[in-house]
Amino acid sequence: MDFDLVAQTFEQMEQTSSRLALTDLLVSLFKKTPPEIIDKVTYLIQGKLYPDYEGIELGLAEKMAIRAIAASSGENMSTIEQVYRKTGDIGDTAGEIMKSKGQSTLFTEPMTVERVYSTLDKIAKTAGPGSQEAKLRLVSSLLHDATARQSRYIMKFVMGKLRLGIADYTVLDALALAFTGSRANRQALETAYNVSGDLGTVAKIVATSGLEEVQTVGITLFRPIRPMLAERVSTPAEALERMEGKAAVEYKLDGERIQVHKGQDRVEIFSRRLEKITGHYPDVVEAVRSINTKEAILEGEVVAVNLETGEYLPFQELMHRRRKHGVEDAMKNYPVVMNFFDVLYVDGSSKTSLPYTERRKALKALLAGKQDDRIRLVEQIVASEAGQIDRFMAKAIEDGCEGVMVKQLSSTYRAGAREFAWIKIKREYRSELADTLDLVIVGGLYGRGRRVGKYGALLLAAYDPENEIFRSVCKVGTGFTDVHLEQFYQSLEEHRISHRHARVDTGMEMDVWFEPKIVIEVIASEITLSPSHTAAKDSIRQGYGLALRFPKFTGKIRDDKDPEDATSVQEIASMYKRQLKTIGKQDSDDRQVK
Ligand code: AMP
Repeated sequence: MDFDLVAQTFEQMEQTSSRLALTDLLVSLFKKTPPEIIDKVTYLIQGKLYPDYEGIELGLAEKMAIRAIAASSGENMSTIEQVYRKTGDIGDTAGEIMKSKGQSTLFTEPMTVERVYSTLDKIAKTAGPGSQEAKLRLVSSLLHDATARQSRYIMKFVMGKLRLGIADYTVLDALALAFTGSRANRQALETAYNVSGDLGTVAKIVATSGLEEVQTVGITLFRPIRPMLAERVSTPAEALERMEGKAAVEYKLDGERIQVHKGQDRVEIFSRRLEKITGHYPDVVEAVRSINTKEAILEGEVVAVNLETGEYLPFQELMHRRRKHGVEDAMKNYPVVMNFFDVLYVDGSSKTSLPYTERRKALKALLAGKQDDRIRLVEQIVASEAGQIDRFMAKAIEDGCEGVMVKQLSSTYRAGAREFAWIKIKREYRSELADTLDLVIVGGLYGRGRRVGKYGALLLAAYDPENEIFRSVCKVGTGFTDVHLEQFYQSLEEHRISHRHARVDTGMEMDVWFEPKIVIEVIASEITLSPSHTAAKDSIRQGYGLALRFPKFTGKIRDDKDPEDATSVQEIASMYKRQLKTIGKQDSDDRQVK
């Protein structure tokens, strides 16, 4: 197939923004494309060589691209650089230079799609020492025989700058029209795309074998499935109205959604956008190997964690794992825990058509006995009243989550769909507490991992002067150095008691209890409503206390303060109200800006 047909279509596409016109252009290109290479043409249209899950890039440096244009046009580097500075795009630069030079008359091979594709493929697969020079030779060989228009698109492609802006749905529409004669068949193509994550393969099947064959496309291990998405509402009551009187409610963790494909001796991880990101999480790969099944596709959220306390950390911590180099260090410094919430496939059979309840059962069975520091089954309840969801959500937020996901018990896994079978309710506000708080240590949890033999987290309380008792407001496990840990272990020993102190009020279970004596300083990201902590209980909402979210020890032990000098519950309640007011103000400022 003549590559100019593709280049011409690209040129026309760049000049139109109407979706209908784009679809027409694609239909006519697809009709002219031999079915054997329609997958390749489909990838080229998307600016790729393979589906995203292959995770391969062309990787040619800018400088090399300029040298390739020089080598094939005979123009000197400084002229090319000048044009590049003006256009800001290597493809446009190549087009302009080639136009002024005219095409070489000595070309030996015709410029076919097959030739362009296989050369680009070689460029992508060339790696190691000397690979930039080898890539340069390959690009130059193409440019040598290319017209100005062809050079323009080849170079845009090579630099990853071919952005025709064609949505997947437009390509699916065009495939349906070109090969089945009706746009109505798009749905069947879309379903195949949703489970295979690969438009090129769908195109090839419909072009070579027809619609019926498309309908047989199923899940394949190591090919990512497009994830099921959630709609959003603001309150638990609204969420329940959309359900069948009863629904599953899960923690909505604040991390990265990943799809884990486990084979007998291979594990791959895909991002929400279906890119292969196995390299970011070698620890998850290792943990997943121990799951007792030959093959499985599981979905979940990977979250940064404080391994010593088991506490979730904010999403920002996870960013350190998104890298190609230094993964070993990042793994040590930013440990993660994998929280599974769905299973899509086990040992040759798809689970997507099972209702949620059955999938959850299957997931639980798979993870039975496997839950440890690295693997968890996502926290879940089944709720039939808004109040239950409310409380669960407050607990989720206090534990470092973003909110909850409400899931319809009877729903199948609808790959790629955003519907009300899954509903997210997120906490509405996010702010930073400016003040530090001085709180009293009243309980402790034994540490794990590096903190074995020390305390992993301490229960802190604020003072309620009206009733002369200490009411819990958070657990803190972050901000402690090894020296602090040792110091606390020693100094708390003399205050250790066998039961909760009579002047301490909390809904939390602890390993050990202390007399309220030692005051420490903490900072936190904000104050939230809590079902388990009792500071200012009932003063803001009936049945709820207030808690600190993401609390952190500042390093200061307030020896200068008596426990009764600690921050009071009234102060915390007024900080909470101030926080709401500030947020209200931010909201109205936002509206004014808009
Ligand atoms: P959003 O990104 O705000 O549209 O919310 C949907 C995202 O929530 C998903 O893509 C997941 O990354 C994340 N998530 C966290 N916890 C869960 C859960 N239990 N079930 C499904 N998705 C979850």
